[in-house]
Amino acid sequence: MSSGTSDPNKPNVLDMARQQLAVAAKHLDLDEGLHAALAVPKRQLIVNFPVVMDNGTVEVFQGYRVQHNLSRGPTKGGIRYHPDVDIDETTALAMWMTWKCAIADIPYGGAKGAVKVNTKKLSRRELEKLTRRYVSEIGIIIGPNEDIPAPDMGTNAQTMAWIMDTYSMQRGATYTGVVTGKPIPLGGSLGREEATGRGVVTSAEEACKFLNISMDGARVVVQGFGNVGSHAARLIEEKGAKVIAVSDATGAIYNPGGLPIHTLISRYAHREGGIREFAECDKITNEELLELDCDILIPAATAEQIHEGNANRLKARLVVEGANGPTTPAADSILSGKGVFVVPDVLANAGGVIVSYFEWVQDLAAFFWEEHEVNAKLERIMRNSFHNVLTTMHQHKTDMRTAAYIIGVKRVADATITRGIYP
Ligand code: NAD
Repeated sequence: MSSGTSDPNKPNVLDMARQQLAVAAKHLDLDEGLHAALAVPKRQLIVNFPVVMDNGTVEVFQGYRVQHNLSRGPTKGGIRYHPDVDIDETTALAMWMTWKCAIADIPYGGAKGAVKVNTKKLSRRELEKLTRRYVSEIGIIIGPNEDIPAPDMGTNAQTMAWIMDTYSMQRGATYTGVVTGKPIPLGGSLGREEATGRGVVTSAEEACKFLNISMDGARVVVQGFGNVGSHAARLIEEKGAKVIAVSDATGAIYNPGGLPIHTLISRYAHREGGIREFAECDKITNEELLELDCDILIPAATAEQIHEGNANRLKARLVVEGANGPTTPAADSILSGKGVFVVPDVLANAGGVIVSYFEWVQDLAAFFWEEHEVNAKLERIMRNSFHNVLTTMHQHKTDMRTAAYIIGVKRVADATITRGIYP
């Protein structure tokens, strides 16, 4: 996953993000100077900070916060805890957030944060101390009107609660709007936890209608069984589809007759051995999972899983990207040549940031919505965004990713031009 990977199939993710921008810029005949401004982040903050571990020793951690673009509003983006993250990957993720917010037409620019850490090696107390110190370090650039973090890989509602508390303690008042994805009693929104998965499934439904695939009995494969993957699997099963394989970092499980997703979530996902402790299935690898014969493939783990080396062997008719950056540009061309329909990450996984936006609005207004309102508003934005992208795809005779970028990049470019370049 590191952007500095030596695997020839897996390019630097920041190069990948810039290549995707360049394709859209060409379609839009974007001014060269404006293109250059959008290809770089506005701010990158690198912090190195010590944490006293439970055994009394001091460990130094490196963290990042990158704000890519502020033209359409304050910046928004998750915080990732992972041993392989670096500044380039964080920058690519921030850039993707800018387009994602613009495609969904919510008033934010993109940001991302990360700490290079293996959370499995930390106690809960160490994790809390690391989070509080990281937030103190990046506190100079985040805030409810400036930059609003959220969960991503390796972080969750508890992490967001510590972030909100640390930021608030340092200012002497409670600022619930500084972060989203919080627990419900602390200003979180109903529907936020499952929002990304719900958005992925709404995108899959719209794509199925377009491709004439019946959701009833459709065979689905999901890579990654964390927040995004497990909710997507559960919700697509509720729509009548059959989830035949799922995986986590330890490997994959497969049953052509269908897997019991509710049982896997409630009884296996949080065990030490994970979903592979479930007996009634074949144990396969994550690589084999991607190549299974299925109707819908949902990559919901990490970047660059579908690449030049395996794209040709994929058998899915539809790929709906739950993860950020799961498909490399080279794989995109191969899939397009094979007639595989790809709903890109910047469209398909926008449900998380959309409901994060709802959470922020509710926090600022101190007035909270019912869950059915949240879900209905989310699904409406997802369906509208999908159809805008589909229309643009037809107009420009291109694929869904390029069409999504055309919309996102144009909205950001228009905002920049209309505001004018200061001074
Ligand atoms: P998570 O930490 O909750 O879950 C990640 C899952 O992927 C875990 O099951 C983990 O075991 C598995 N995994 C890790 N490496 C793997 C590998 N190499 N092969 C197979 N499985 C692997 O993270 P999440 O929040 O579900 O995020 C997953 C992806 O979705 C990330 O790319 C993230 O940036 C993206 N995303 C998340 C959100 C959100 O709201 N959480 C929103 C938009 C996009």
